[in-house]
Amino acid sequence: MVYLFRSMKQMKTHARVVIVGGGIMGASLAYHLALEGCTDTLLIEKNELTSGSTWHAAGQCPSITGSYNLAKIHAYSNQLYPRLESLTGQYVSWHPAGGLRLATNDVELAWLKQIYGYSKSIGFNMEIVGLDVIKRLNPFLTTHNVLAAAWTTDDGHGDPSGLCNAMAKGARDLGATIVRRNRVVDIRSRPNGEWEVVTLQGTVIAEMVVNAAGCYARQIAAMVGTQAPITNMQHHYIVTHPVPEFADRTIEIPVMRDSYTSGYFRQEQKSGLIGVYEHSDLREAWTPSGMPAWESANELFPDDLERISPYLERAIERMPIFGDAGIRRVINGAIPHTPDGAPLLGPAAGLENFWMCCGTSFGIAQGGGCGKYLAQWMLHGSADINMAEFDPRRFGPFADEEYTRAKVFLDYRTTFTTRRPGEEEPDGRPQKMSPLYPTLLARGAVHGETFGWERPKWFSLDGRIEDYSYRRNNVFEVVGDEVRAVHERVGILDLTGFAKYDISGPDAEAYLNRIVANRVPRKVGGIGLVHLLSPGGRILGEMTVTRLAVDRFYALSAAAAELRDLDVLTQSLMPDEAVSVENVTGRRGVIVVSGPRSRELLARLTGADLSNEVFRWLTARDITVAGHPVRALRVSYVGELGWELHAPVDSMTAIYEAIWAAGQAFGIANYGLYAVNSMRMEKGYKAWAAELTNELTMLEADMPRFIDLTKPDFVGKAATLAQAARPLKIVYLDVDANDADARGGEPVLEGEQCIGVVTSGAYGHRVNKSLAFACVPPHFAAPGRAFEILIQGERRAATVLAAPAFDPDNSRMRV
Ligand SMILES: Cc1cc2nc3c(=O)[nH]c(=O)nc-3n(C[C@H](O)[C@H](O)[C@H](O)COP(=O)(O)OP(=O)(O)OC[C@H]3O[C@@H](n4cnc5c(N)ncnc54)[C@H](O)[C@@H]3O)c2cc1C
Repeated sequence: MVYLFRSMKQMKTHARVVIVGGGIMGASLAYHLALEGCTDTLLIEKNELTSGSTWHAAGQCPSITGSYNLAKIHAYSNQLYPRLESLTGQYVSWHPAGGLRLATNDVELAWLKQIYGYSKSIGFNMEIVGLDVIKRLNPFLTTHNVLAAAWTTDDGHGDPSGLCNAMAKGARDLGATIVRRNRVVDIRSRPNGEWEVVTLQGTVIAEMVVNAAGCYARQIAAMVGTQAPITNMQHHYIVTHPVPEFADRTIEIPVMRDSYTSGYFRQEQKSGLIGVYEHSDLREAWTPSGMPAWESANELFPDDLERISPYLERAIERMPIFGDAGIRRVINGAIPHTPDGAPLLGPAAGLENFWMCCGTSFGIAQGGGCGKYLAQWMLHGSADINMAEFDPRRFGPFADEEYTRAKVFLDYRTTFTTRRPGEEEPDGRPQKMSPLYPTLLARGAVHGETFGWERPKWFSLDGRIEDYSYRRNNVFEVVGDEVRAVHERVGILDLTGFAKYDISGPDAEAYLNRIVANRVPRKVGGIGLVHLLSPGGRILGEMTVTRLAVDRFYALSAAAAELRDLDVLTQSLMPDEAVSVENVTGRRGVIVVSGPRSRELLARLTGADLSNEVFRWLTARDITVAGHPVRALRVSYVGELGWELHAPVDSMTAIYEAIWAAGQAFGIANYGLYAVNSMRMEKGYKAWAAELTNELTMLEADMPRFIDLTKPDFVGKAATLAQAARPLKIVYLDVDANDADARGGEPVLEGEQCIGVVTSGAYGHRVNKSLAFACVPPHFAAPGRAFEILIQGERRAATVLAAPAFDPDNSRMRV
């Protein structure tokens, strides 16, 4: 009682930021907020710092990870950790052992070549080395079935508690406050937008709250009525008794990572350490309905050596010197995992100033970078790296407990399995389906998953199965055929996953013009492309807006942006603005009909006048197709004559079947998103989350056409103009590729210097060119400028194009 009273007196009652959880994520965030200038931060930990997952981690910090943006997070941590001790005075036991990731087949080698490209773009040290170097670095390794390895030299391993405590100390030394042995028991919103954080030691009022509660993130999210799609997995590693062969060595072996073992192994002082990711009999640490008890701290689960022994045996096959050492210690602890294996970093959907900093399954490796980039986002409105794939709003209500568990089990068991581009497993699917799903499936559709939606990627007309690859593969020609069908005849596509919003009210036009860079259409029936910006001028979203009436608009955006754009739309509303924003995504489906014969085809099914004189490009009308009312938008993302038909979901199948039947006379074909990507590259259309990201302003993204400077103001206007001098520019490239096209993340090289990075790319089947977008300094952006791109380890010439590779005058869409 005396203790409680003293604590209550000491606790701050107000803080700009309250962080719930003192593991590596919370501590890193507190530290980086302080480094960015915000020290009015209160971190609350229910037990001791690190007492969740962090203390028992093995402490490895690999440079290598499959995602380009996540690799940036890892790279930052690996730059920070070796310096943390001198920066903070706290011992972190950093071992700069480097890492060796073994490649045991061609797929793994191709993956390493892709990541080698990332290493050049991002700037971490990596080489692909052969057996001689592998043997020199680790003379104890059995290299059967090893082809090569990635040798990374900036990484290593540290003491997780030391790293966490160092960042906590750094934060404290800069002025942040840390309260231990205090639990957050409730979080309530206040009418003025602030949060009331109720703790065992009293209540704190906060402008922003951050959920950094690790395995408890679900419970914290539930306090504010939202969800954290996390399943906590049990994970083992063992430490051996001292290994005699290590006794006299002065150099540590690198941290080894190996798909054959499905795990990692390394030296732990003079002992061995082996951690494995088993493929079957996976165990949740706690089921969501029986989450960890609040009292739980420094908790380990009973060992299950039988479960992991097949993998330990493989590790010993690789490292026979571990075989006789015997096991000294077994750790079986909990790791939070998300459905796609990436952390949750960013705002919680539908809530203002409630942030997520959790869901990391490699939290030691990622903690430093997660804290840095989330702090930037919280304080400055955007981060220096593309945060789209970490934004918690990439998951919606579809990511329920069952879905999350299925995906997490997949993620866990494939931790050391190399997944090839485009490869998507069936686990947890299907979640959200268009009414056309069974019809298209029967016609050969191969679906991919976006924001839970099943969307056709391509159509297998002869039963072939995609041989996923970094190079052009056995669907290259199939996609070419789909493109040719759209280009020469007519194609049909299901884009029901589009996010759709009805925006209405007397102030709707003024409101939209206030929050987007372009001007929304003035005329009823007009369609325009508009962009949502942060106050700092960075790109948040892209929407197609149709004016339905003087006071009614229909906005469309990417499927994956549904909750993010909804948040921008609703959170931008001012109290005195008479505007209603409604998310109508689930109510309407979208059928796209594209190609030179699309008008003739649709004319057979509608009495409406589709002529160019009456129904012009970039306009919309309500018409009937096959007797069903549809909102027809004459727009095209593929550069051909065409219409998007937006219809109530229950009429989708009838409309599709009528078009399909009538389309037989015109040689109609189904097409999918691979073909769309090829055609949008040919049109030079930049994509949200690839080129149009929170890293860039509209001018840097080379989108000046979509800024209306005649408007007195719009969110981000001043910053857009002020930042025009930053040395970044998106350019459009013709790439001299052979059988592998750029995908994103590949370095752009001028001689030996890396001058930029590819943001996306694809082969253009109508122009027979390999095309890409890249971000480079503006003095490399002039049309005709040539440089090179490293694709699969090969240098490929690239030339800046002045105009879209296909139909630069839009003549095919205007007819
Ligand atoms: C065996 C094992 C080995 C691992 N090895 C590695 C590795 O080599 N490399 C790597 O990168 N990762 C590794 N990990 C994963 C790593 O441990 C986690 O990803 C990381 O620790 C997660 O950090 P966190 O801060 O999100 O969570 P935590 O460390 O769990 O921190 C969350 C904190 O929130 C506190 N909290 C929760 N609820 C409340 C509340 N209501 N009020 C106040 N406080 C609260 C908890 O007490 C806890 O301290 C390993 C994990 C395991 C199990």
